Amino acid sequence: MANIKSETTGQKRIDTIATDIKKLVSGISNGKPANVTEENMDKFLKNIKEAFNAWNNPVKEKDGKLRMSVLGKPPRQLWYDRFSPKKTKDYDASLNIKFLYGHILEHLLLYLAELTGHKIGDQQKKVEIDNIKGHIDATVDGEVCDVKSASSFSFKKFKTGELVNDDPLIKTLQDTLKSKTPPDRCYQLSETKGGNKSLPIGCQFCAHKWECYKDANGGKGLRVFKYSNKFVYLAEVNRQPNVEEITKNFSEELKTYGKR
Ligand code: SF4
Repeated sequence: MANIKSETTGQKRIDTIATDIKKLVSGISNGKPANVTEENMDKFLKNIKEAFNAWNNPVKEKDGKLRMSVLGKPPRQLWYDRFSPKKTKDYDASLNIKFLYGHILEHLLLYLAELTGHKIGDQQKKVEIDNIKGHIDATVDGEVCDVKSASSFSFKKFKTGELVNDDPLIKTLQDTLKSKTPPDRCYQLSETKGGNKSLPIGCQFCAHKWECYKDANGGKGLRVFKYSNKFVYLAEVNRQPNVEEITKNFSEELKTYGKR
């Protein structure tokens, strides 16, 4: 970068961000370093430190109250969060690590964007909509941005503008959380090559899957099969997979959520 300041005066547009970062990285690979200064590096490291501390001291939601950070979650998952909160167990550890590197990646991406001359502002600024409190990740070139690797559902609120247009999304979620019964499932089951139905990725990482699918497999609950590179959770088994079934390893969950 020749001069960050001269490039952060509004000439950059957010839609060039991916190309600009690729160019920056390719320049670095070819021996042309980015314009890292004491000041911008200190800011980046401070953001990483704050992100780590926030991850290390998570804020417990009270009474399932909506917060901005949960608006990317689908309604049924939020309903279970509200009415059937789960204790974090060992098997949540890998998920929690993913959250940590998600936070770190967020700041890395914003830093790279800044180094390419995009204007980054309002990082972690507090906001409130309809009495729901939260933070925005940042503005990039004046646009409010959510920086994450997330499901398409999480991005829907931005794509459709639901979050700003009088927010039907928030109202729907508030209604959902008043209901005594959970809303429809968040994602469709995936069809496997063998003709079985498996949990989609969004459900695999969900802490509520056992409860949510307790009626699967004729009321027996989910069945789990160990493939070479992953566990596959089946909600409907039409043809027995030719790999080891490890459902018994989840007997604790199935005692509560399934007839085993
Ligand atoms: S298991 Fe899937 S459908 Fe059920 S609450 Fe979780 S994400 Fe939604």
